[in-house]
Amino acid sequence: MKPIVKISRRNFIRTGSIAAGALMLGPALSQLALAKPGKRLGVALVGLGSYAGGQLAPALQHTKNCYLAGIVTGTPAKAATWAKKYNIASKNIYNYQNFDEIANNPDIDIVYVVLPVSMHKEYTIRAAQAGKHVICEKPMALNAAECRDMIAACKKANRLLSIGYRLHFEPHTREVMRLGQKQVFGKVTEIDTANGFTYNGDPNAWRLKKAMAGGGGLMDMGIYAIQGSRYTLGQEPIAVKARQEKTRPQLFKDVDETVFWELKFPGGQKVTGKSSYNHDWSYLRARAEKGTFELQPAYGYDGLDGKINGKPMQIPNIIQQAAQMDDFATCVTLKKQSRVPGEEGLKDMKVVDAIYRSLDSGKWENI
Ligand code: NAD
Repeated sequence: MKPIVKISRRNFIRTGSIAAGALMLGPALSQLALAKPGKRLGVALVGLGSYAGGQLAPALQHTKNCYLAGIVTGTPAKAATWAKKYNIASKNIYNYQNFDEIANNPDIDIVYVVLPVSMHKEYTIRAAQAGKHVICEKPMALNAAECRDMIAACKKANRLLSIGYRLHFEPHTREVMRLGQKQVFGKVTEIDTANGFTYNGDPNAWRLKKAMAGGGGLMDMGIYAIQGSRYTLGQEPIAVKARQEKTRPQLFKDVDETVFWELKFPGGQKVTGKSSYNHDWSYLRARAEKGTFELQPAYGYDGLDGKINGKPMQIPNIIQQAAQMDDFATCVTLKKQSRVPGEEGLKDMKVVDAIYRSLDSGKWENI
């Protein structure tokens, strides 16, 4: 087992702000933060790309209930660099061919799938069949049908499945959930939300290939905005109408660039959203009967900020991924469903599927 990392001043401040954030959130999250399972669980990251390397591995240096125990990579040079940097035992390093042998490795409790979207289903199912609990990155899969297969396979293998929805552990986001779902200012009547960034990366990247990414800005960024509406209202949308815009059709020839949608909820609220690979957007604005609240930025890793009735929220940021992974480790230890199970990923993908149908039909589509 890996020794607990030495806490630097900066880490201490970060950890302190996690505790402060947890305490502000009332008993549920503070209990999680204080939960002390007997053993720190081993996590193996599958796919050592930018999110695994830039966010998850660093966050795993701050987790209390789990630690970075293993890696799965197709690139031997990456394996060597990571092994050295994170002190990973060679018996805990796998490639995509021998991955299934992870079944015989008691050091690995949780497999975290951080691959291109088209590979999520296969590696989630293989991990569950190898007896490991699974966190799969968002978007959960190429479509809702794949999500259902993944949920069924994990259930059959009696393993827990969670989606990498880090914001469900983030204090500003949890405050928005509280304000909206508990109707603190009366019923929410309107939501407008957007998430996007200006893509200037590799024109041949998997993100721009429909077969690997499932779609463009909607799959990658829009999923947060869809979910933002769902968690602010605490309801599921029943229909959607969408349209799209392309200003760089050469780059986005295979996937969507900017998508606009309107969601119909059972409560009749006015809910609009948009996603983009061509605009830097990150906000959620909600109007209720007796007040307003908003987040901007709403969906990033850090620096989230918000206002309630025009006044700053003054809530600390935390290391979202550390809170997310610690919570899942606690769930595994306590054998209880994560607050972001596969079913949560499926709900978003049903909306995404309906948005793509609406882009084709030009009509309202049922979800
Ligand atoms: P990336 O391209 O940087 O990394 C993908 C990894 O998969 C690379 O290590 C690559 O070598 C590996 N890979 C294995 N087989 C591959 C193949 N056939 N083609 C391409 N790559 C292959 O991507 P990323 O940004 O790290 O995204 C990975 C996943 O994480 C995606 O599902 C993405 O949506 C998700 N993600 C989530 C967040 C979040 O905030 N939760 C942020 C970024 C990315």
